[in-house]
Amino acid sequence: MISHRLVLHPSDPMTAPQSTQALVQGLALSGLIGDVYPQGGEYAFFSGAEFLQLISFLGCSPHMALLPGESEDPGFCYVSLTAIKAWPKFILGQHPATSRCPNCSSPAVDWQNNMDPGSIHVCTSCEIKSPIHALNWKRSAGYGRVFIEIYGVHPHEAVPADHLLESLHTAHGIAWDYCYL
Ligand SMILES: [Zn+2]
Repeated sequence: MISHRLVLHPSDPMTAPQSTQALVQGLALSGLIGDVYPQGGEYAFFSGAEFLQLISFLGCSPHMALLPGESEDPGFCYVSLTAIKAWPKFILGQHPATSRCPNCSSPAVDWQNNMDPGSIHVCTSCEIKSPIHALNWKRSAGYGRVFIEIYGVHPHEAVPADHLLESLHTAHGIAWDYCYL
């Protein structure tokens, strides 16, 4: 089973909320998360009362299943957090977009041979050096010490509402970004 998800992470990969508990409390207060979903992992929650106000589904989205068994699709929407790590991790979907040089947009080649987060890609066109996470992945990869994973969302089917990103910024003093896996 492929678990599609929308993933929120701090924009600066070195930054993170003060604690996982503080992150959980903030998300509960905003209404993104509701009751604990024990089958979903260590920090997994059913969608909260404000979920559909905080995650904007685009266009003619299919009916979103918010509880298990609500749809024939095995994936229903729930939220799972990763514990905050000391060092950032690079995450990449199964079918990532063609990554491109952030300077000249040439396709990045050979990055597959060196996936270490600290590895440097040298553009074959403009010779600019970029860390692998700084390539333009078109939101198909992310880099961070903590991830808020919203399961059951297909790539580009939904975006975090501006006021969700703003409330995370206000609560933790750091800017947030997102990608799709
Ligand atoms: Zn370039």
